[in-house]
Amino acid sequence: METVYVDNNATTRVAPEVVEAMTPYFSDFYGNPSSMHAFGGSVGAKLKTAREQVASLLGALPEEIVFTSCGTESDSTAIHAALQSNPDKRHIITTRVEHPAVKNLVEHLGKIGYRTTFVPVDRQGRLDLDFLYDRLSDDTAIVSVMWANNETGTIFPVEEIARKVRQRGIVFHTDAVQAVGKVPIDMGDSAIDMLSLSGHKLHAPKGIGALYVRKGTKFAPFLMGGHQEGGRRAGTENSASIIGLGRAAQLATEWMDEENSRVRAFRDKLESELLKRVPASMVNGDPENRLPNTTSIAFEYIEGEAILLLMDQHGICASSGSACTSGSLEPSHVLRAMGVPFTAAHGSIRFSLSIYNTEEEIDFIIDKMPPIIERLRQMSPFWREGQFA
Ligand SMILES: *Cc1c(COP(=O)(O)O)cnc(C)c1O
Repeated sequence: METVYVDNNATTRVAPEVVEAMTPYFSDFYGNPSSMHAFGGSVGAKLKTAREQVASLLGALPEEIVFTSCGTESDSTAIHAALQSNPDKRHIITTRVEHPAVKNLVEHLGKIGYRTTFVPVDRQGRLDLDFLYDRLSDDTAIVSVMWANNETGTIFPVEEIARKVRQRGIVFHTDAVQAVGKVPIDMGDSAIDMLSLSGHKLHAPKGIGALYVRKGTKFAPFLMGGHQEGGRRAGTENSASIIGLGRAAQLATEWMDEENSRVRAFRDKLESELLKRVPASMVNGDPENRLPNTTSIAFEYIEGEAILLLMDQHGICASSGSACTSGSLEPSHVLRAMGVPFTAAHGSIRFSLSIYNTEEEIDFIIDKMPPIIERLRQMSPFWREGQFA
């Protein structure tokens, strides 16, 4: 049985081009880039190229890129940096729909004495911007708003928010892990101070990330030790993965058009066919401002986990709500924040495509889903007793 992988917001396949770029740096060129000898120095030269490649994808300067171990570390670093370098400011603003990498950190900071504000969203998942702007104060150290939501694909107006936040002299950070490679980003013409990205969401390996830090932004390192990354992130560089991330950044630039044409068309076809063929189904999130690869569809009156199990029997890999909330039967915090009714939130499935998906795969999913939903609904007392029985 073939695997039909439509769970790319959870992680992506490492591109063969990336594997090829990385391989020599495990075996032949294993030197430490900080070493004085030429053997290590040659690796240092490749890291410089990788930094330029990542900077180029973001329209940033190479010295504004700090390599980290993952998107989570980038988020933690950004928030800690803002708090450490503005020690008398005790207020943090973020949203109710952030990835756990930001949400759980800010909740923790709230418990240890910081004042926290979580901006709500409407039924479509759109942020209440007036609520956010009303809460900016001289005590606010940082505003952190994700660029695009991992569960629904909803894109937030981060540039507009960053401009308002900057007028107040407050640091603005965005978790752009889901946006990088899918939407054009130009930090040259931006008011965003810090931006997180993660390798494994854009066809580089797991365990590598980057934090963009605008030149002149006050910064304090999260990991302290050696002088690596200009003293902004200690620890011997993950050379092979950094080189892989550089190559993936290059590919992301090349693939951006395809992501927004072919991938988007497949996503749209999948979504409209499923809505047409499956009664009592609906899309979660803002259908307008949305990543090209993502659709979150609620199949009412059944359990997402049960749907995933039956999909898995056909080799179809997707997520219910968010990978981080599966294992519990609580609907995801994102769908709850949007006020999606429980009967719909429980049966929500996220399909997230990549450039590796084919039209045959999309047709296969369109073919397999309606009988899966029908079968589960026949077993669902909520469905049988409901208006659709
Ligand atoms: C995956 C993800 C992260 C975490 O990145 P890791 O590299 O897995 O730590 C953070 N934010 C968003 C929006 C994500 O999708």
